[in-house]
Amino acid sequence: MTHNVVLVPGDGIGPEVAAAARRVLDATGVEIRWIDGPAGAGALEPHGALLPESTLDAIRSCRVALKGPITTPVGTGFRSVNVALRQDLDLFAAVRPARSLPGVPTRHAGVDLVVVRENTEDLYQGIEFERGSEQALALRARLRDLGGFEIREDAGVTLKPISASGTHRIVRFAFEYARANRRHMITVGHKAPVMRFSDGLFLETARTDAADYPDVGWEEIQVDHLSARLVRRPQDFDVLLLPNLYGDILSDLCAGLVGGLGLIPGANIGWEYAVFEPVHGSAPDIAGRGIANPIAMILSGAMLLRHVGELEAAARVEAAVDAVLRDGRVRSGDLGGTASTDEVAEAIAAALA
Ligand code: NAD
Repeated sequence: MTHNVVLVPGDGIGPEVAAAARRVLDATGVEIRWIDGPAGAGALEPHGALLPESTLDAIRSCRVALKGPITTPVGTGFRSVNVALRQDLDLFAAVRPARSLPGVPTRHAGVDLVVVRENTEDLYQGIEFERGSEQALALRARLRDLGGFEIREDAGVTLKPISASGTHRIVRFAFEYARANRRHMITVGHKAPVMRFSDGLFLETARTDAADYPDVGWEEIQVDHLSARLVRRPQDFDVLLLPNLYGDILSDLCAGLVGGLGLIPGANIGWEYAVFEPVHGSAPDIAGRGIANPIAMILSGAMLLRHVGELEAAARVEAAVDAVLRDGRVRSGDLGGTASTDEVAEAIAAALA
């Protein structure tokens, strides 16, 4: 069977790690027809949009995509392409596994946890009011009328909506994921005592739904305390269930726990579509030099293979990554080596055999 997969190379190191991942996935022998999906800075000139409708249509048609990172220009008024993609395709669940890898020295051994992050709401929904704008001033006046709330005239505002319906689906997703992947404990991170009507609703809804899954353990921790516990004893955790913003921050923290951003894959999953991408960004500081670590992107490809039912090939890619890391001779700069992106990909492709 041939799988149609949209490949979105993205910006910065994206095209480099995308080519490396394609090289490895093709070497598994799984039949993949790659469909080009331009997005990001490279799409603006030829397509007139950072996220062309044709790319969204291609993903809707193929249902799966492998995506490199896309730069979000700061302070230009551009909506983040990553956020737009997740919202337009309703990819409500981000899944980011962080496990200790062989041959990668870190402070903690035996880490094996998964961040499940709500991907569409919260402070990342994109409801913003620019400082001094007519809308910000109108909002300020309305808030004063509504509840006597005072915000400074020179404040910019970002809203934090969290809904019961949005929470139900991510909580159900997390529990079903735990069951399907033989995980035994879900820890929810929140700041409910301070943000009663957003985090409070998330926690309350999650707690109620958790009662339907008595076979999976349940724990509630405030997100600041959770951060402290994670850096001291990450082995205590199995699945972390988090609203959007905390999920974004803690998945980078978890990447750091197991050796860095170059290693951690991710999936954005909705009812209909799934987009696989590494946790890392476009790394402008090393872009164009052919030295980025492609492993996060390659492991994202392994998650994609598993998603489309190629379980054996997915396991082989993960085993090949482990073998190359364990061997230690071919390593990229972030892991203390000198190998190029292509050399790492070649070594992993060779280890597949
Ligand atoms: P980043 O993840 O791009 O880089 C952080 C650090 O990690 C840099 O020093 C970088 O060199 C290093 N790094 C990242 N990936 C690496 C890899 N594969 N191999 C070796 N080193 C690697 O984070 P940033 O600098 O904060 O963000 C850069 C841009 O990427 C921003 O525009 C940001 O908005 C965007 N971004 C996009 C996504 C996405 O597309 N999903 C995610 C995060 C950030």
